[in-house]
Amino acid sequence: MDLDAKIPSGPLSEKWDKHRFALKLVNPANKRKYNIIVVGTGLAGGSAAASLAELGYYVKNFCIQDSPRRAHSIAAQGGINAAKNYQNDGDSIWRLFYDTIKGGDFRSREANVYRLAQVSNHIIDQCVAQGVPFAREYGGLLANRSFGGAQVSRTFYARGQTGQQLLLGAYGSLMRQVGTGRVTMFARRELLDIVVINGQAKGIVVRNLVTGKIERHAADAVVLCTGGYGNVFYLSTNAMASNVSATYRAYKKGAYFANPCYTQIHPTCIPVHGTYQSKLTLMSESLRNDGRVWVPKEPGDNRPPNRIPESERDYYLERKYPSFGNLVPRDVASRNAKAQCDLGKGVGETGYAVYLDFADAIKRDGKDVIAQKYGNLFQMYEKITASNPYEAPMMIYPASHYVMGGLWVDYNLMSTLPGLFVLGEANFSDHGANRLGASALMQGLADGYFIIPYTIGGYLAGLDRTEVTTDHPAFTDAVHYVSKRTEKLLSIDGKRTVDDFHRELGHILWEYCGMSRNDDGLLKAREMIRALRGEFWENAVVPGADKDFNQSLERAGRVADFLEFAELLVTDAYTRRESCGGHFNEAFQTEENEALRDDENFCHVAAWEYKGDDKDPERHTEPLVFENVQLTQRSYK
Ligand SMILES: Cc1cc2nc3c(=O)[nH]c(=O)nc-3n(C[C@H](O)[C@H](O)[C@H](O)COP(=O)(O)OP(=O)(O)OC[C@H]3O[C@@H](n4cnc5c(N)ncnc54)[C@H](O)[C@@H]3O)c2cc1C
Repeated sequence: MDLDAKIPSGPLSEKWDKHRFALKLVNPANKRKYNIIVVGTGLAGGSAAASLAELGYYVKNFCIQDSPRRAHSIAAQGGINAAKNYQNDGDSIWRLFYDTIKGGDFRSREANVYRLAQVSNHIIDQCVAQGVPFAREYGGLLANRSFGGAQVSRTFYARGQTGQQLLLGAYGSLMRQVGTGRVTMFARRELLDIVVINGQAKGIVVRNLVTGKIERHAADAVVLCTGGYGNVFYLSTNAMASNVSATYRAYKKGAYFANPCYTQIHPTCIPVHGTYQSKLTLMSESLRNDGRVWVPKEPGDNRPPNRIPESERDYYLERKYPSFGNLVPRDVASRNAKAQCDLGKGVGETGYAVYLDFADAIKRDGKDVIAQKYGNLFQMYEKITASNPYEAPMMIYPASHYVMGGLWVDYNLMSTLPGLFVLGEANFSDHGANRLGASALMQGLADGYFIIPYTIGGYLAGLDRTEVTTDHPAFTDAVHYVSKRTEKLLSIDGKRTVDDFHRELGHILWEYCGMSRNDDGLLKAREMIRALRGEFWENAVVPGADKDFNQSLERAGRVADFLEFAELLVTDAYTRRESCGGHFNEAFQTEENEALRDDENFCHVAAWEYKGDDKDPERHTEPLVFENVQLTQRSYK
């Protein structure tokens, strides 16, 4: 299949305007004839459902949580980027575009990224109009701080709770539409299959997580906003319910999965404490504005940090990358932390941690200023570790946090399955091989508020519309498939818990397909994943019944999908014979141990097509064409 990204022709800065004009429109009076399913209520799903209903479409909106407000987006801490240039420090749409392309190690589409930078400013206006309480300067203008991979301050924030405040804004708009009757909310539902009729996505099958009932829902188009698959690593900063199931089931129904090996390991998380831990906590990247990262110069130096004099500390990021210092992008910061720990310079009980020190910032700005900026993050750190970061440096270590891979989408955000659109972290579109901090919220809201309202109209207006009902045999087939799978899970009757399988899968991926990868490890991981998957279907224990509230069953379904998807992730990593961004294959590195790309052979998106349970997936490519920026070796020195 030809992967046509449908990128409009013409100058970069005019593509989106030109495209919006070229897209067919749905007459306002006709919009109410269309039903759209939006799965997900995070920033992408919440903003999409509200915007589509505001336009006049009828929307059914689904989520796993008991309230749309509890989507994983609520956890976002540090901020959201936009090219407003309020600081007058040299920012522009072009600079945001360039930083994002470079930050992603030249593995994203120019046209998508430029559009993202263009609409970033509208997002801030929209959110301010909704009443989102962004931090402000004394003169009233919105305040900004810096994030990694940029030398300007363009990150808008609401203390360390930016995601929560943005989500409340989207939720307000969503509830307004629930009030008008144009959005119907279906909370506590889990998507288990996509229904395809005549080659088009026409509905979904979900499980009611409270009653266990399998439900059918038909629509003219389906919009997936189901977030990322970072929990494939088991330990991650993601919400516990974050999963790959929705996108993986769509993959099995014809949507290609793009760049699954592009995963982001975030440098500043609270280190792992014990074997039975099930969750990791992020310390926002914003802390690197003022915190200085260091380790003792001598391996094995286990003196307390305040007893190690300045001359015996290595502020390795400032030393190696004088221009960007502590604000290098995440992939660079994470790999460097690992390298220091591998040299024996790690700190803390396990030796897998580095310091993030605020002593200089407190001396310079005073404790009150630091507390005003990061108070809730410091409090959270102290609650979890029982150490006061105003007095002793934080200890941090990289952890799985975000995924750049996701379902392949074209410029209209439509997958290879016609009628199935994918937004937010669930798609692969804008961040290349590494996402810059504060750009996920920007992308999710850009997709939901400003892109899908146009592009879905173009699809619907061109549709030869025949109304589909849930009596269609395709729905019956999907329900049959879902029920059989549930039956199979409940009948395994083994001895090992589902969490135990998930934990082992996480160990395999972290060890062999984490911050650094090599061919032997990847091949070994593939075998181990296959064996683990085999054992899962023989020896997992899934108690309870299907016609009831059953969290073990929920988890079992998600872990079963992770066990299949993990193989695709590792296969993708193995076949990309280069290093770029978060994908670091040790065989491909510069003399200074930075990622070494192969632009001649791998300047493309890899998109995988499902060919059947017993067959290997097929790798397709979409060439990445750079007309406006020159590909260079990334440098943050
Ligand atoms: C701790 C933390 C801090 C972060 N801080 C920042 C930050 O400061 N700035 C930034 O830009 N980014 C940040 N990120 C990243 C950012 O929060 C996410 O990428 C973004 O919120 C994802 O939004 P989303 O709408 O795509 O998905 P989500 O918010 O994950 O929403 C997914 C939705 O889909 C639903 N869903 C999922 N699967 C199914 C299913 N099978 N069936 C039915 N419904 C389903 C869920 O219920 C949920 O409603 C952070 C991430 C973490 C983990």
